[in-house]
Amino acid sequence: MAINESLNRKLRFALVGGGQGSFIGRVHSIAAQLDGRAELVAGALSSDPQRAKDSAGDYGIAEERAYGSYQEMIAGELALSESERIDFVSIATPNHTHFEIAKAAVEAGFNVVCDKPLTFDLAQAEELASLVEQHKVVFAVTHNYTGYPLVRQAREMVQSGELGEIQAIRASYIQGWLRSRLEEDGQKQAAWRTDPTKSGAAGCFGDIGTHAYNLGRFISGVLPDEVSCTLKIFAEGRLLDDYGTAVIRMENGGLATVTASQITHGRENDVAIEIDGTEGAISWRQEEPNKMIVRKNGEPHKIYTRDPNHPIANDSQINACRLPSGHPEAFFEAFANVYTAAFDAMIQRASGEDFEMTNTVYPNVHDGAEGMHFIEQCVASSAQNATWLPMKHGLARR
Ligand code: NAD
Repeated sequence: MAINESLNRKLRFALVGGGQGSFIGRVHSIAAQLDGRAELVAGALSSDPQRAKDSAGDYGIAEERAYGSYQEMIAGELALSESERIDFVSIATPNHTHFEIAKAAVEAGFNVVCDKPLTFDLAQAEELASLVEQHKVVFAVTHNYTGYPLVRQAREMVQSGELGEIQAIRASYIQGWLRSRLEEDGQKQAAWRTDPTKSGAAGCFGDIGTHAYNLGRFISGVLPDEVSCTLKIFAEGRLLDDYGTAVIRMENGGLATVTASQITHGRENDVAIEIDGTEGAISWRQEEPNKMIVRKNGEPHKIYTRDPNHPIANDSQINACRLPSGHPEAFFEAFANVYTAAFDAMIQRASGEDFEMTNTVYPNVHDGAEGMHFIEQCVASSAQNATWLPMKHGLARR
């Protein structure tokens, strides 16, 4: 199939964030361009206008489209003809800036791929979700763990009933890099993540707890009913949580837990999920992403490997693979799978076709807003001695 058939060209995009010394912007750039379906043509790469322009050469962005701010970028792109201007904006900036940048992009009619957590608070997230509906743009949130082939396989296994009724979910994201107060040494990524004016109401739970929560929701499709949460600050003097556990009563009577830590010695990016159904149980860890264990009582444990050519691979896995089995695929490819699913919708939109806005393969603005609701209720519950608080649904995925 030709690249972006029906559009017959690459999608053009701009990156906000990703300037020199930053982390995830580079991953967005690589992931979006991995399959040759999109091309980075513009950017407002840093909060510092000079650094923004100085960083553009690292990405091959032409000088005239290296903007000093996202406001300049949106105005500059709107001034170009439709055949030159960007199709979408990727946002890889700290949490407190997501809303203003995403709102400006959506109101200008651009599609958006935004990093998580969606916004600084729930009110912003809800406003953004309604703007996205109103302007009918494609809006993806890079909960990138949903892009792993075996995570996609697991989701289809749940949907097809292979695991039976889902009764329990244990999701966790365990890191150790904030055991000491790196933020005091000026470590940039630590500094804004532990600052309540930049990170939001939660620290660790907003940064990585939302990933674990989203993964459980993505695979299981089971709706939450109520949450009880305890958040802790273990590094003395820190202002936001660096550890926590949430217990979720699910609408179907099941029970889920989300544990997130940034203070566990030696742990890196240990995102793990176990899902128990009446007919079988699965477990998956992102540090060994090409392997998933499927267990059924009375049968030998099965290790599913990422293998698009194996008869056990379902279409969801096959469509998420690029290489034959045994060649490791991981973070970049999973990130790219979120992008490529959003691209399909962007092409439908550009071709004037209807496109799905809620029950999408890629995490969308409503999943992002649900993540913000999860954060707010966890913080509120923790402040009230882990009291049970309701989880609302809106347009949440099933
Ligand atoms: P970072 O501090 O390394 O980089 C942030 C970049 O944004 C910097 O270049 C900074 O100058 C720029 N920036 C800040 N305000 C800006 C503005 N108004 N306009 C333009 N540029 C601006 O941060 P990071 O670790 O890359 O995190 C960025 C975002 O990505 C956060 O929301 C974080 O939660 C998320 N993140 C997601 C993942 C994931 O796996 N999906 C991983 C890491 C970070």
